[in-house]
Amino acid sequence: MSGAGAAVKLADSSGLPVEPRTLPANAPKPAQTTPPIGPATAVPRIAPLIRPEPAHAAVVERLAGSESPRSATPLTDRFGRFHDYLRISLTEKCNLRCKYCMPPEGVALSPKNEMLTTQEILRIANLFVDLGVTKIRLTGGEPLVRPDIVDVVAGLGELKAKGLETLGMTTNGITLSKQMDALVAGGMDAVNISLDSLVPAKFELITRRKGFDRVMSAIEKATELVGSGNSGLVNAKVNCVVMRGINEDEIADFVGFTKDHAVNVRFIEYMPFDGNRWNDTKFVSYAEMLDRIRQRFPELTRLSHADKPNDTSKAWQLPGALGRVGFITSMSEHFCGTCNRLRVTADGSIKVCLFGSEEVSLRDHMRAGASDAELAQLVGGAVVKKHAKHGGKGGMHGIASSENRPMIKIGG
Ligand code: SAM
Ligand code: SF4
Repeated sequence: MSGAGAAVKLADSSGLPVEPRTLPANAPKPAQTTPPIGPATAVPRIAPLIRPEPAHAAVVERLAGSESPRSATPLTDRFGRFHDYLRISLTEKCNLRCKYCMPPEGVALSPKNEMLTTQEILRIANLFVDLGVTKIRLTGGEPLVRPDIVDVVAGLGELKAKGLETLGMTTNGITLSKQMDALVAGGMDAVNISLDSLVPAKFELITRRKGFDRVMSAIEKATELVGSGNSGLVNAKVNCVVMRGINEDEIADFVGFTKDHAVNVRFIEYMPFDGNRWNDTKFVSYAEMLDRIRQRFPELTRLSHADKPNDTSKAWQLPGALGRVGFITSMSEHFCGTCNRLRVTADGSIKVCLFGSEEVSLRDHMRAGASDAELAQLVGGAVVKKHAKHGGKGGMHGIASSENRPMIKIGG
């Protein structure tokens, strides 16, 4: 792209200029001024909450019915990244207490009235699908502890009629077997189940709770549904966070598990969040994981062709295995350049980066009466400020030493 880009001066929401940068030729041209989406007096109920944001007149046009090019929507940031994947956290509560996610003393839960209601979740999801989101993943906390989970999934499933292509969930699997049929009937087509050990006692050590057999049953059931080819569930994955001194000795066992289980096991590099006592001695990199696996399975083969453009995971497979292996290398080989993900927390804030501290409360604006066009403008204002990588914190030590929510309050 060198030579094809244009040096432009950007302005942030404060109106102050920020560092000039060279944008790729195909990137949307950022606007220089705050757009009129209507005079401030036209929305007196919410005027005090809405701060001036960079221009997103295209949103207003699109919501008013006229077509805008993809590059000009509020879901495109200043680096040209179009965000068509939304992760919605449904709750801060959980029935496990994983060491890497929660501080030992637990987290102070936000008051119930600060959580998004079912209707608010559906409204936000609907708005994002209107703006171009094609994939939604539900997470938490543990999404399945939300009493209305089946209704939420069914409501989101209806968005498939207007452009949603994938409706997934990340769950610890504890209660999944019981709820799976209703969730799949409601439109859930992909599920990621977390499992960090194949040894029951170690599962309890990591999660500080019992439940190994229930998680294994959920994995078996999900795998069967996918294998049946006609259940509606098309994808089942296992997520395994690797920590030194805890489960790095089981990596090769998990790879062996994929020989006779048609499941994709993804090893996730341990990430720092508030309260999880991360330090780099507990961190095991992608390179080290591969070294360990090759000592037992030198035949493990890279499947580069299986990686899709926005995939966070690098695919590998044992020859002849039913399942696959993947690596989520957020720390050692970040994939921020192709990031297409946005997050909404259970209390209704949009987070444009897992590691960023900046948030905008959609909930407060919705409750103050904001229209969809106004919410879209807020989304665009947040997206345009997304940093190039790692929330602008400069690598894993920068992330570790900066403030963020605990993972359970973000939604992984
Ligand atoms: N409760 C659900 C679960 O455990 O799958 C969903 C929420 S959990 C926060 C989402 C994902 O984030 C899980 O796969 C979990 O293993 C992962 N995760 C949590 N803390 C992490 C950390 N510090 N580093 C890497 N992955 C983490
Ligand atoms: Fe709960 Fe998931 Fe966090 Fe474990 S990783 S404590 S299951 S939210």
